[in-house]
Amino acid sequence: MIYQKATFLKSAALLNQLPEDAGIEVAFAGRSNAGKSSAINSITNIKRLAHASKTPGRTQLINLFSLDETRRIVDLPGYGYAQVPQEVKERWQKTLARYLTERECLKGLMLMMDIRRPLMPHDKEMLDWAVRCSLPVHILLTKADKLSRTKMLTTLRGVHDHFSSHAPLVSVQIFSIPLQLGIIEAREQLDKWFFGGDVVEE
Ligand code: GDP
Repeated sequence: MIYQKATFLKSAALLNQLPEDAGIEVAFAGRSNAGKSSAINSITNIKRLAHASKTPGRTQLINLFSLDETRRIVDLPGYGYAQVPQEVKERWQKTLARYLTERECLKGLMLMMDIRRPLMPHDKEMLDWAVRCSLPVHILLTKADKLSRTKMLTTLRGVHDHFSSHAPLVSVQIFSIPLQLGIIEAREQLDKWFFGGDVVEE
């Protein structure tokens, strides 16, 4: 499994510090505390891989992980932190919007949302940017173990219906680390972006 080979590549504060816009990138995004780092760690099966992104000074950075010479996972800064000054928030929103809309090698966006609080305003904003530039989005409804099975499925259906007009550009699944739910499904989605369709080997 290629995801197990992920290694930290670099952090970037500005878009011009990113590696050359070539190969394939898949970005992970979500509100702070949505479970993004945990999802990256469980998908790669590397315990503390993305938590390295949480060390002081790195939380506001774009952190990149290499899978091989051409494929990268991009850990975008968590959004929605109340403590961050408005000015910093706005600067970051602009940087994120530019990354999502201008990055040629970006093939997909994994969007983590806590299943108990899906589709918060910033989540919708991310989705709008992605849809506007035809970037495929796959939503992980994280921490599904926090809800009963019935509520879990109702939320899944609700989020799915919300985006039915954008299918197949937007898809959604349930995810839970303690229940080991959805990890394989998430990897299959990544496989499609990294290896499926019109991949051109560099
Ligand atoms: P991030 O800020 O989005 O990177 O979120 P983290 O991955 O650090 O997770 C935030 C909190 O949610 C941590 O305390 C995790 O242990 C917890 N968490 C993450 N995934 C799950 C899950 O699937 N189930 C439960 N119950 N807790 C989770």
